[in-house]
Amino acid sequence: MSRKELRQERQALRSQDYLVEKLASMSVPDFIDIIQEVLSRRNAGSKQYDFERSTLVLGLAYRMLSDEVVDGDNVWEKASCLAVGYVDYEHYGGRVGMDLLCQQGTCSVCGLAVMSVAKYSICPHCGSEVFCT
Ligand SMILES: [Zn+2]
Repeated sequence: MSRKELRQERQALRSQDYLVEKLASMSVPDFIDIIQEVLSRRNAGSKQYDFERSTLVLGLAYRMLSDEVVDGDNVWEKASCLAVGYVDYEHYGGRVGMDLLCQQGTCSVCGLAVMSVAKYSICPHCGSEVFCT
C-alpha cells in the first residue's frame, strides 16, 4: 500500500469515526430523520420483484420480563420487533419535540406495526399515514 493510499485510508477511518460519533449523539428525532433519508436513497436503488415488496427499515427490538422464574432466574419473553415510523411533518408543520419512541400504531394499508416519536407518523414500508397512540 502506498503512502497516499495509507493517508486516504486513515482519513476515511477518521471520517467514519466522526460519522458514527455524530449519529450516536443525535436526538432520537434527528437520528430518525437522517436514517430516513439514508434508507430512502438505498431503497430507491433496490431491486423489487413482482411477487414481493421489501423495504429496508429502522427497527426497535424489545423483550418483556415475564412473571416466570426458573431456578431463581427471571425469564424473558421472546423478542418482538416494530418498525420505526417517520414523523409526518406535513401534519405538524415543523419539528416534533419528543425524544422518545413512545407512540405505537399499525399501518392500515400494509399492516406494518410501527413505533414512533409522533402520533401522526408515516409508514416506513408503504409511505401511508399511520396514527399512533
Ligand atoms: Zn404501510
